[in-house]
Amino acid sequence: MAYDPSNIFAKILRSEIPAIKVHESAQTLAIMDIMPRANGHVLVIPKAPSRNLLDADPAALAGMMADVQKIARAVKAAFDAEGIMLAQYNEPAAGQTVFHLHVHIIPRFAGVALRPHGEAMAKPEHLAEHAAKIRNALAELS
Ligand code: 5GP
Repeated sequence: MAYDPSNIFAKILRSEIPAIKVHESAQTLAIMDIMPRANGHVLVIPKAPSRNLLDADPAALAGMMADVQKIARAVKAAFDAEGIMLAQYNEPAAGQTVFHLHVHIIPRFAGVALRPHGEAMAKPEHLAEHAAKIRNALAELS
């Protein structure tokens, strides 16, 4: 299926709708997920348009993964996480709901279950607090 530029992440990239930003580079924008599966759940969104991994330019994927690693390290430090889970869904059958490529970065702790995918909206003030912690960790790690 073709890329549709009216998707919500394309609107965020064009600053048509707001998002709580964590980091921006030439190739990606990292924002807090509004329905976090755990505190500190970040989405890394490449600026280059693609529906998902399957139609993405390999060069854009390489740039995106460099930023994913950088943000993942900061999320782990900010939340003192024991582990970091990445998730990336391709097409509705695999759980994709927003059709612009993105990678989920989710802090994990042994024995702590995740909240369900895309169900409960977090309070904006909590997301802002979590974003600030991650930005601080990014500054310390760089
Ligand atoms: P996926 O397409 O990988 O299944 O998930 C899309 C993700 O985007 C979900 O985790 C959902 O909570 C998140 N999401 C959906 N709409 C918005 C939005 O408007 N802003 C932000 N920051 N996240 C969103």
